Amino acid sequence: MTEVAAPDRPAPPPASGPSRPDAGLEYAFGAPPDVSTWIEVAPGVRWVRMRLPFALDHINLWLLAGPDGWTHVDCGIADDATRAAWEPLLAVHTPVVRVVATHHHPDHVGLAGWLVERAGGVPLWMTEGEYLTAHAILAEQPGYAPEPMAALFLRHGLTPARAEAGRERRGGYGRIVGPLPPAFARLMDGDAVRLGHHNWEVIAGFGHCPEHAALYCQALGVLISGDMLLPRISTNVSVWPVEPEADPVGRFLRSLQRYRVLPPDTLVLPSHGLPFRGIATRIDTLEAHHAERFAELLAALDTPKSAADVLPVLFRRTLDAHQLVFAMGEAIGHLNHLHQRGDATRVEGPDGVLRFVAR
Ligand SMILES: [Zn+2]
Repeated sequence: MTEVAAPDRPAPPPASGPSRPDAGLEYAFGAPPDVSTWIEVAPGVRWVRMRLPFALDHINLWLLAGPDGWTHVDCGIADDATRAAWEPLLAVHTPVVRVVATHHHPDHVGLAGWLVERAGGVPLWMTEGEYLTAHAILAEQPGYAPEPMAALFLRHGLTPARAEAGRERRGGYGRIVGPLPPAFARLMDGDAVRLGHHNWEVIAGFGHCPEHAALYCQALGVLISGDMLLPRISTNVSVWPVEPEADPVGRFLRSLQRYRVLPPDTLVLPSHGLPFRGIATRIDTLEAHHAERFAELLAALDTPKSAADVLPVLFRRTLDAHQLVFAMGEAIGHLNHLHQRGDATRVEGPDGVLRFVAR
């Protein structure tokens, strides 16, 4: 639910045609598992899929077998359908020894508290940035509450009526994220953690969220990439009100270099879409995609424009209220990047709206 670009659908392998976002990728499995079933994608690594009631209609989760029990990586949202889909899986994959959440977005952490409790209070492993952010949003702390979102959008040129979309969106987090445990086990960049039968390296990533954790297992040749590397969707990289000057696009592009150096035959397990090989090819495509957007944006900034003004440049279709939140966040992010790298200047109008113009 965190991406607004082309909704991801199970792709028919093999990919073909240079215009496809997944051109050149090799899909290891033709179709995803049905709900409440699994596919073993590597020894002791099982792929489970849960439905999402959004344009992005699914999330992939991973179950790792170990000597003492199972490790869950990501959880699904906290709704009755997802809890029901978990039941037959929990009956087989028992005991659960820990729950790992790659980041704080609802499709990943929503049911973490429920799964932890069902397993008798096992630890929840997350980075500190993600754990604290989840709590801050649930508690509607200053900067994470609905009001600052509307204010940010007004400052970037949205009309008051459309800026209200932000208010509605933020209030929705607690409806699909259950209560979280009051303690966690901290994952940090570079940690080597024992999950299942193998060691996994934590690779922190930025731009999509404060401190995303991807997991790489050299022995298995597997990368659990979370939302940082997806085969077809361009990961959402948004500015949020708590950090209005952020450059999430720059952070994301820099983070990708951490995956580029992994062995070319690494099997990537993404949160959305199908497992694939071809990390470098996918990163090339993403870099080209963002370079193209920056060029289009700069061309449009021949006169001062706000983030709201450039929405039609970046998104060539009608946006519903849900998509508008992510689209505005992305538009502000791209403008901040051009501003901070010196390609655009920023002016504040008498109406209080921030506008950007190419140098
Ligand atoms: Zn996400």
